[in-house]
Amino acid sequence: MIKRTLVIIKPNAVKDKNVGKIINRIEETGFIILGIKMIQLSREEAESFYYVHRGKPFFKDLIDFMTSDKCITMVLEGNYVITNIRNFVGDTDPEKAKKGTIRYEFGDDLSKNAIHASDGIETSKFEVNFFFPEFSWETGKL
Ligand code: GDP
Repeated sequence: MIKRTLVIIKPNAVKDKNVGKIINRIEETGFIILGIKMIQLSREEAESFYYVHRGKPFFKDLIDFMTSDKCITMVLEGNYVITNIRNFVGDTDPEKAKKGTIRYEFGDDLSKNAIHASDGIETSKFEVNFFFPEFSWETGKL
């Protein structure tokens, strides 16, 4: 089934000039980019986006990092795109990520892991709508 999901190329990958390589991989793998923006998140935006992690020990580091520089946000579309992009992205910890995944190749550590991808249907609806209300979606009603 066709679905949509949100991907963020994180500040370390932007600073390291890996945006082109990551986008190339996304396209070569067959994901369709429906929308794309370069933005620098405010603290308020980052805290709202990552609200599920509020109160966790790494929350402040996560927000500091995600607001430290520009990010690329993207809406992708495709069959089973939510599951497929998570496999493409790899484990949260680049040291545990499988060879060939984005985090294996471009991630520096658990914080600077190069890329974010929504982890489920409800999350992807919230996250796509957060950055791209024009591409918001509900199952079966694209
Ligand atoms: P994801 O869905 O694979 O991105 O992982 P999570 O939703 O669990 O966490 C969101 C982001 O918070 C991750 O991508 C990491 O950058 C960061 N993060 C998660 N767990 C930790 C941790 O234990 N320590 C640190 N420093 N960062 C973490």
